[in-house]
Amino acid sequence: MSDVTQARVLRVPFVDLTEQIASLRAEIDDALGRVVSRASFVLGPELESLELEFASYIGAEYAIGVASGTDALELALRALDVGAGDEVITVANTFAATAFAITATGATPVFVDVDPGTLLMSPIAVEEALTSHTRAIVPVHLYGQCTDMTAICRIAAQRGIAVVEDACQAHGARFGDRLAGSIGDLGCFSFYPSKNLGAMGDAGIVVTGSRRLADRVRLLRNYGSGRRYYHEQVGFNRRLDEVQAAVLRVKLPHLDEWNAARREIANRYCARLGALEGIISPQPPFDDQSMHLFVVRCQRRDELCVSLEERGVATAIHYPLPLHRQGAYAPRKSRSLPVTEQAADEILSLPMYPELSADAVDYVCDQIAAYVHERADSTTVE
Ligand SMILES: *Cc1c(COP(=O)(O)O)cnc(C)c1O
Repeated sequence: MSDVTQARVLRVPFVDLTEQIASLRAEIDDALGRVVSRASFVLGPELESLELEFASYIGAEYAIGVASGTDALELALRALDVGAGDEVITVANTFAATAFAITATGATPVFVDVDPGTLLMSPIAVEEALTSHTRAIVPVHLYGQCTDMTAICRIAAQRGIAVVEDACQAHGARFGDRLAGSIGDLGCFSFYPSKNLGAMGDAGIVVTGSRRLADRVRLLRNYGSGRRYYHEQVGFNRRLDEVQAAVLRVKLPHLDEWNAARREIANRYCARLGALEGIISPQPPFDDQSMHLFVVRCQRRDELCVSLEERGVATAIHYPLPLHRQGAYAPRKSRSLPVTEQAADEILSLPMYPELSADAVDYVCDQIAAYVHERADSTTVE
């Protein structure tokens, strides 16, 4: 501990949005000023423009703004008429909202295991989990890497079931020549402030190539109503408001440059962590990834996490308890998911956001190296 206090201590936050907001402050103020002057706050021109701009960015025919990523997933599934009695296959190593959106429709999430290298949905595990009740597959493009959509879409096509992409961490990630979200029947994005593209509150969007599904989502987000006070179906209030849409329109043109900065940070991490005993880094190249998170694996994860905290480095775990083990789902019987369960004990997310400086990345790597060397010393003494 005395060594630590004598050495240079930098505070490295896990995520810090202040610099990005500051750099766009004048444009954001202008955009907000526009909304305030117009005094039209729901289903107005900012949302209409955002939907066109985001659809064009993703390479999808339609985009429908909603109130959150969770709503995007739920309304996408509801647009497909997924509901009670249906099973929806997804993964357990994701943010709980993926499964909650499935449960909200009345359907049952069926959790499958993941590929040990990428921690993404295993197509083989999907095949094993198919039943006559399976109505949809929800692959999660975790950390900003794309699931093997060729395999997932092939399985879905053979069975005549739908694919809803959870692209909430994958704005701008690529799979071949397509962007995440544009490959399945529908793609779902979150604009939670810390995502690759973040609003100043909650927001989300659904993209699709199907006019019919786009129309369904548009009805569902607005009380099942296309014409005011006439309700074709039971719906919800899940709209993306004008304030958030205006902010997102300022930020969208910067998404590619921010993702490139994230990839540069990831490469810097890899170059410096690659040789460290017991630390497993993600495998470059990262060209196709949105690098939402930079996640290493370490068998003594909890110890490393505490050690970094003492040295001023904030980390996080995405996610510490797989969904089939959470109180919300544990009472149900579930197959065991050995790859998912082992990963949950070893994963550690390092600081990652576009404005993170090279100096801060080097500092984080130095602290990890110091931990690894101290451990090696203490074990040889024993
Ligand atoms: C953030 C996130 C969601 C939920 O999005 P919200 O906008 O917070 O509702 C769903 N799935 C994944 C994988 C996420 O990272």
